[in-house]
Amino acid sequence: MNLVLFGPPGSGKGTQSLLLAERRGFMHLSTGEALRAAVKARTRAGIEAQAIMERGELVPDDVVTRILADFVGEYRRKTQRFLFDGYPRTVPQVFLLDKLLADYKLASPYLLCIDVPEETLLPRLTGRRICVKCKAMYNIHFSPSKVEGVCDVCGGHTQQRNDDREETIRERLRVYREQCLPVMEEYRQRGRLQTVSGVGTMEEVFTRVDTAITAVPD
Ligand code: AMP
Repeated sequence: MNLVLFGPPGSGKGTQSLLLAERRGFMHLSTGEALRAAVKARTRAGIEAQAIMERGELVPDDVVTRILADFVGEYRRKTQRFLFDGYPRTVPQVFLLDKLLADYKLASPYLLCIDVPEETLLPRLTGRRICVKCKAMYNIHFSPSKVEGVCDVCGGHTQQRNDDREETIRERLRVYREQCLPVMEEYRQRGRLQTVSGVGTMEEVFTRVDTAITAVPD
């Protein structure tokens, strides 16, 4: 089964994807993570994406699809369970993903949406801090590290993402409503959409996610 994890910024897609990869053996790609790595490495894609991401807008379909195609091409023989976190985010990307999977004779994906009310998202995003070294996540409002700015797990430095500032977050939420919600509608019409509530602890949400994907036929 191939899965798309979907939801607004701050819905916990990243956390749930890591749990699914770890506990259910999915081969996980976060296009946002891959883009941030490209920005850091100053690759061509990274240079093109940086300013766009800092504004909270979407990177052009061809740039992000190249990253996805490289990933699927590399791992297609090693897994039957891809998990795409953050792709597709536009309707054209839905069809680009269909084509890519069909070209490799891989199964069409299901879309699992993690639903969180918008008023809950802002403090989740503005408070988010990530360890630069081990990627452990904290929230200064709900789950701070023991020492401010220092990771409990590895002692690394924790940092706010460039696009987790309030102005950018509002733009990311607007983009989600306008460009991403039609993606969900497309999968709904195909009968390949499941929605779970993303309110609660990480483990509570994981139980819902896990139950939902178990119910999906392979
Ligand atoms: P994320 O980590 O999923 O919140 O993504 C961070 C940023 O990366 C987004 O705000 C976009 O600028 C960019 N991005 C990630 N995935 C995509 C995608 N599928 N299409 C376009 N832009 C993307």
